[in-house]
Amino acid sequence: MKNRVSIISAEKIGVEVAVRKAIDLAGGLPELIAPHSRVLIKPNLCRPEASGTGVTTDCRVIEAVTRLVLELNPKSVIIGEGAGAGYDFSGSTSTEEAFRVSGTADVAARLGVELCNFNDDEWEEVSVKNPYIMDRVKIARTALHSDVIISLPVLKTHLRTLITLSLKNTKGILPGAEKRKTHALGLDKAIADLNSVVKPSYVVVDALAGMQGLWAYPQDRVEPGLILAGREPCAVDTVGTHLMGFNSSQVMHLQYFAARQRQKADLQHIDVVGEPLDEHIMNFKSGWDVFRARYPGVHIIEGESACSGCMGELMGALTAVREFSGGEALSELTVILGNARRDEVPKTEKTVVLGKCARRLAHLGLFARGCPPMCEDIIRIICSATGSDADMVIASLNQERNRRWEDTKHLLAR
Ligand code: SF4
Repeated sequence: MKNRVSIISAEKIGVEVAVRKAIDLAGGLPELIAPHSRVLIKPNLCRPEASGTGVTTDCRVIEAVTRLVLELNPKSVIIGEGAGAGYDFSGSTSTEEAFRVSGTADVAARLGVELCNFNDDEWEEVSVKNPYIMDRVKIARTALHSDVIISLPVLKTHLRTLITLSLKNTKGILPGAEKRKTHALGLDKAIADLNSVVKPSYVVVDALAGMQGLWAYPQDRVEPGLILAGREPCAVDTVGTHLMGFNSSQVMHLQYFAARQRQKADLQHIDVVGEPLDEHIMNFKSGWDVFRARYPGVHIIEGESACSGCMGELMGALTAVREFSGGEALSELTVILGNARRDEVPKTEKTVVLGKCARRLAHLGLFARGCPPMCEDIIRIICSATGSDADMVIASLNQERNRRWEDTKHLLAR
C-alpha cells in the first residue's frame, strides 16, 4: 500500500484549519494516540529566530498541533528541542532563548504544556543495530521514552544535506556534543542511523514559509503557504524535497534511511492527496548555489570533519559583514575550517581559521577558537583581516535581530 501525504494550502482557510485538514486527510492522530501515550512534539528551533521567518517552525503550527493532541487526552504532552551545535554552552545563546523568541514558550504556557530543552536533559546511550557508521548514540531521555513523536520540520535547504525535513529534524533530540559526533562521522549516514533508533511517528511540515540558500532573512525566505502531513517520514520528506524542486534521489540521508526501512523514497510509491504537488513545485536555490553567487570572493577550505556548527556561525558572520560593512570587504578572503590539510591552503593575506578542528593551521591566519567559535568572534577576525569595523557590524546585527523579534511579536500574542 502506498504511504499517504497530504498538501493543504493555508491561504484562504488559515493555519489552524489547514493543519487540521492536512492531518485528517493524511490519516488522523487518534489511531496513534491513546490515553496512556506520552507525546513529544518536536518543532525545528535550531537557533533563536522569530516565528514566521522560515528558519524555525511557525508557532501557529506548533499551537495547532498541540491543541489537536490535547483534545485526545494523552497521558502527557511535551514540546521539546535542543538547538544546534554550539548552543547551550557557557557564553552562547540557548534553546530557552529559541523557545522564547519563536513564541513556543508562549504557546506552551497558554496550553499548559511542558517545555524540554534536550541539550540539558538527562540522556541514555543506546545501540544502533546494523549501523551505517554510528553503532552507539546518546539520546535525550525525554525523547527516548516518548511513545509518540510528532515532528514539525520547516521546508528548508541545507548546505550539508541539501534539504532538511523530518529525518534531519530528529537530530534535535541529541544532547549538545552528540550532535557534533554525527557531523564528524558523516551526517547523512548518521541521520539514517539515528532515525532507525528514534523515528517520528507522524510529521507535519510547516511549509507556510521556508528557507532556501543560506537562510538569510528576508532575502532567502520563500512562502509556499502550505502544510504537509503524513505518518511516514520517508514519504513526507520525499514530497517536501520535490516541492522544493529537488529530486529525492539527491538526498542521501533519505535514500539511506529508505533502504534501511526497505522502502523507496520516490513519488511513485506515495499517494499525494489534497493540493496537486505539480502545481506547487518551487525552485528553491541550494545553499552552495547561493553561496557562490553571494560571496564570489570568499574561498572556503573545509576538511572532512567540518560541520554545520562552524558553517552555520560562519554564514551568520559573512552575512552580517556583507550587510553592514559592504561586500567588497569580503573579496579574496580565505576561510579554513574542519581538519583541512596544509597543502590545500593557498598563500593569501586575508585568511581566517575557525574552530577546534582547524587549530593546527591557526598560524596561517587569524584564529577564532571554540567548537564552534561564536559568530561574534568570527565577525571580529573577518573584520580584522579585511579592515572593517567589527564593533559597528556587531551593533548593527544586534539591532537588526531585536527589530525582527519586535516585528513578529504580533504572531505570539493571539
Ligand atoms: S570545530 Fe567546528 S567543524 Fe569542528 S566539530 Fe566543532 S563546530 Fe564542527
